[in-house]
Amino acid sequence: MGRMDGIRNIVILTGAGISAESGLRTFRAEDGLWEDHRVEDVATPQAFRRDPELVQRFYDLRRENVLAALPNPAHDALARLDREWRGDLLIVTQNIDDLHERAGASRVLHMHGEALSAWCTACDARHRWTGTLLDRPPCPACGAAQLRPDIVWFGEMPYQMDRIFAALARADLFVSIGTSGAVYPAAGFVQQAASHGARTLELNLERSLGSSAFDETRLGPASELVPQWVDEVLG
Ligand SMILES: [Zn+2]
Repeated sequence: MGRMDGIRNIVILTGAGISAESGLRTFRAEDGLWEDHRVEDVATPQAFRRDPELVQRFYDLRRENVLAALPNPAHDALARLDREWRGDLLIVTQNIDDLHERAGASRVLHMHGEALSAWCTACDARHRWTGTLLDRPPCPACGAAQLRPDIVWFGEMPYQMDRIFAALARADLFVSIGTSGAVYPAAGFVQQAASHGARTLELNLERSLGSSAFDETRLGPASELVPQWVDEVLG
């Protein structure tokens, strides 16, 4: 009897820890800083209204960093799981980079938006975007110069929560990888999955605020723990 007996539907939550090993720094809850900026200055709707140029410049740099980064063995392992797992699988990521996709995963949901996407606040269209927004380029759909980063800022509603909660309700296994357990609603996913009977596993560099909520916690770098776990799952 293997530990995967009875497991068919898997939901995986990934956070900053998995992208950190690709050199991408993200918001740190401990000190409230992101690349030396206070979150209130660059990652809220109020900040964008107050100083759009600062915010656009900040995300133009994040976009550049994302394009220069490469997937690491943790992304590669999850892409392999996505290819080979025959049951349901959903990778919910808090990260705004596209490293899961570039590693080859397709069942990915970006709950906090995407660095390589621009959102037109005039016509509501979204466009894949690899250039800058600071120079106020026109929307390819409507021509208005009203593109903003397609990022869920603090105080805004994360994307596709209905789909995430539906997946959690059907999950047999919930796995949290490289996330601090500090930012809601993602911090509550483990309780949500467990309340519907899922087994829960945490893979993290260090114990998180939410560690006690998991059936099992394994500590170490994602680039080591995730490939090991995927090998176990795929047997
Ligand atoms: Zn538009």
